[in-house]
Amino acid sequence: MPKHEADHKGILKMSCLIAGQPVQSGKFHEVHSPFDNRLVGTVELADATHTESAILAGLAGGPKTTRYDRYLVLEKARQLLVERKESFAQVISAESGLAIREARYETGRAHDVLMFAAMETLKDDGQIFSCDISPSGKARKIFTLREPLALATAITPFNHPLNQVVHKIAPAIAAGTPVILKPSEKTPLTAIMVTELLYEAGLPPHMLSVVLGPTTEVAERLVKDPRVELVSFTGSVAVGKRIAAAAGYKKVILELGGNDPIIILEDANLDTAVALAAEGSFRNSGQRCTAVKRILVHEKIKDAFLSKFLEKVKEYTCGDPSDPETKVGTVISEESAIYLEQVVNKAVEQGAKVLYGGKRNGALMEPTVITDVPRDADMVVHESFGPLAPILTFRDIDDAISLSNSTDYGLSSGIVTNNMEYALRFIRELKVGTVNINEVPGYRIESSPFGGIKDSGLGIKEGVIEAIKCFTFVKTFSLPW
Ligand code: NAP
Repeated sequence: MPKHEADHKGILKMSCLIAGQPVQSGKFHEVHSPFDNRLVGTVELADATHTESAILAGLAGGPKTTRYDRYLVLEKARQLLVERKESFAQVISAESGLAIREARYETGRAHDVLMFAAMETLKDDGQIFSCDISPSGKARKIFTLREPLALATAITPFNHPLNQVVHKIAPAIAAGTPVILKPSEKTPLTAIMVTELLYEAGLPPHMLSVVLGPTTEVAERLVKDPRVELVSFTGSVAVGKRIAAAAGYKKVILELGGNDPIIILEDANLDTAVALAAEGSFRNSGQRCTAVKRILVHEKIKDAFLSKFLEKVKEYTCGDPSDPETKVGTVISEESAIYLEQVVNKAVEQGAKVLYGGKRNGALMEPTVITDVPRDADMVVHESFGPLAPILTFRDIDDAISLSNSTDYGLSSGIVTNNMEYALRFIRELKVGTVNINEVPGYRIESSPFGGIKDSGLGIKEGVIEAIKCFTFVKTFSLPW
């Protein structure tokens, strides 16, 4: 199977791959580092003809795989990733601008996804229903089994270039469903590397293609094509809603944006609150769907929280992503950093005060602490995908719940309290997919159900176990018993 090369300057030369075969179109996409704009790699692009070839290759099928075969592929891929985790981390960091320490952490998450998917492959996924359990019952049993889909497409965002891809591909492999991956054009190099790694691990080539090219010729075609039975999308609300409207009669999984709060009650342990608020706001340059995008603090403890938080923020050094000491790398582009700067400036015009950071240098956006932010400021109402930490106060638990629920999003939340009554009320009353007590909103393990409601998604969960279900249809059969 062909593998990408690097030229004498280390610039990666990659190509879209259709069932293992490189696309030869003569059209190239350049990937530059958001930090210093150096050329990191090129990708030979696909067009409408290649999209059709990828669909046909997936549908044509190939050698039939057993559960054990698929387990072996996923397990081998896990081993190869362990061996190559540093080269993956370097490419993630170079193409996304994420700090190298974050990129290394991401390889560990992808490892877990492959491990959990391999484990799930070996488990039976059927159920048995005895039918003689009601007055109208019969001596029969109904059995369920899960069958793979004919073909799926996975469309992924830039913010976790490896983990977002593996979170869709590994469950598809576990289920036996062929998949066409359309990664973000901002971070395609990692996606192609992991595709190559999976072929090397023994994945039959028809099971995976990776394509990238003009939206109308690649992504939109995949979404609309009736032969593609599932679109699994992670990305922004705007694109997600466009996909929902265009997809027509097929399964659609949407994992969309978030505007997650961390809610700090008056009884909170302040050191815990400060550590969670900082980690939640600034990890991954604030570019996580479940990053803390609003810090809601009880008004009685605002000053005490702030003085500790402002000390903590100093630890989040922002700079060269390749420096192992850097905690916050760039955001994905200078354009995104300019947007974040504007969001901060707009909040200031509305009366907010910047207490730390607020400045931009190219695509580097400083970790920024902002207080006195009006409840209707853009950065409170909409998702700001960057290291911004707007602080708002609330009067009591009713106010906290209503403020938390006041945006269109409903992904996750973190609550800092030791009061069980409070904890239970938040679990019951927040309109979100996840409530984490004394943890960041983003806390999960890779196999637990994950996903949001309202504008954050349709409530259909991912996470390895749920995602495998998405990539299958349930068939039932019954027998006299
Ligand atoms: P995006 O702009 O929505 O792009 C996501 C993917 O959709 C990319 O591959 C993009 O391709 C593709 N795309 C663009 N237009 C399309 C169209 N018309 N039809 C089909 N596909 C299309 O999102 P992003 O900026 O990369 O990622 C950030 C967003 O993702 C944030 O809102 C974040 O909250 C969200 N996110 C959500 C989760 C979750 O699990 N809920 C996790 C991570 C991120 P191109 O790159 O080629 O444009």
